[in-house]
Amino acid sequence: MPVFSNISRRRFITIATASSSALFLKGCLGNPPDTTSSQSSPVASPVAELKPEMMPEVKTVKLGYLPIVEAAPLIVAKEKGLFAKYGMPDVKIDKQANWGAARDNVKIGSAGGGIDGGQWQMPMPYLISEGIITDKTKVPMYVLAQLNTQGNGIAIASKHLGKGLSTKMSEQVAFFDKLKSDGAKFKAAYTFPKANQEFWIRYWLAGNGIDPDKEVELLTVPTAQTVADMKRGAMDAFSTGDPWPNRIVSDKIGFISTLTAEIWKNHPEEYLAIRKDWVDQYPKATKAILKAVMEAQQWCDNFDNRKELAGILAKREYFGVPEKVLIEPLMGKYNLGERSVDDKSMAVLYWKDEKGSVSYPYQSHDLWFLTESVRWGFLPKATLTKAKDLIKQVNREDIWREAAKELGVAAADIPSSTSRGVETFFDGAKFDPENPQAYLDSLKIKRV
Ligand code: CA
Repeated sequence: MPVFSNISRRRFITIATASSSALFLKGCLGNPPDTTSSQSSPVASPVAELKPEMMPEVKTVKLGYLPIVEAAPLIVAKEKGLFAKYGMPDVKIDKQANWGAARDNVKIGSAGGGIDGGQWQMPMPYLISEGIITDKTKVPMYVLAQLNTQGNGIAIASKHLGKGLSTKMSEQVAFFDKLKSDGAKFKAAYTFPKANQEFWIRYWLAGNGIDPDKEVELLTVPTAQTVADMKRGAMDAFSTGDPWPNRIVSDKIGFISTLTAEIWKNHPEEYLAIRKDWVDQYPKATKAILKAVMEAQQWCDNFDNRKELAGILAKREYFGVPEKVLIEPLMGKYNLGERSVDDKSMAVLYWKDEKGSVSYPYQSHDLWFLTESVRWGFLPKATLTKAKDLIKQVNREDIWREAAKELGVAAADIPSSTSRGVETFFDGAKFDPENPQAYLDSLKIKRV
């Protein structure tokens, strides 16, 4: 077992340079190392008593993540020793350079030096399973849990301050039209095409009567590059996870037109998905991972822990950003530039939200992501007729249920249905999972 799995590199250096050899040896002898954790945290989680039928087949898995708040449950499960608690002491979480790298790494798997799974935007696990974004190589994946709801936003460059760019916009079509006729078409970026961030920016524009394919130029920019690119004027807007939109405001580069929670309250965001071949081979280890992630989600969801969470995520080996830019969005305190929001129900949520479970991967949400893909012509219309079968293959909410029971999650916190029911958006549109076609029919701007 790695001696320093529970402490940061910086703390290791502090310990080492303080030449506290006694403490060093204490760690070496297999005792849990001291942590800087506050009293509220589950310090150095003890190893759970595992029944033989729950003992993981392997002690390791390699999970990729991106440095945005969506990754918190994976990072906390590692930092708090929760993977070890459920018999997986050697879980590796591996920062990915960008979404394309994550996709390439899961295609080759950990055996090829890549990853077995990790954090994904939707519908990436479907696109990878179907070979759509992996050069036709089908790499079947299982969606196992949702990591978070909300926690994203659309940032706008400062030069557009005072132009009325907000969640709901009136008379803004002329603004985009004028930029277009001036030869300076509004450029909006996201971190990976045809997934969450592109959907949020398209939804926001189209919900305001602006056709994203005609009035705007859409482009892909890696997460960590978004701030720099806006600073040098290469883009007018981008959509990504916290804390990056917040950083735009604190660095006075731009402002936030809308939180994604204002576009769709309690909206599904990112997911834990792992290669099917890995899960099929190691079903007990899969449930151990899920139990650790669920426990981490419960911890992350508690606002009393969020200051400590900001400290963990801010570390150099994770996000490498000042703690200050993390704590505000994590507490639901958003300085949007032109206005502010102070509401915990608008923050990133990890375990429960007003609509139900966050961790449970509702199949009705996968259907929305597939339907939205059809809306914009990313997937053929026939996708809808086979969506139910496809979702059954990829979304393994049944494994989530088994893991939740093993963890002792209260029955009331385990959804009784695979559907969260009818969803309502800021423009009044409704998505009924029983009738996705009616949703498509109701939308004015679409490519289908
Ligand atoms: Ca996101």
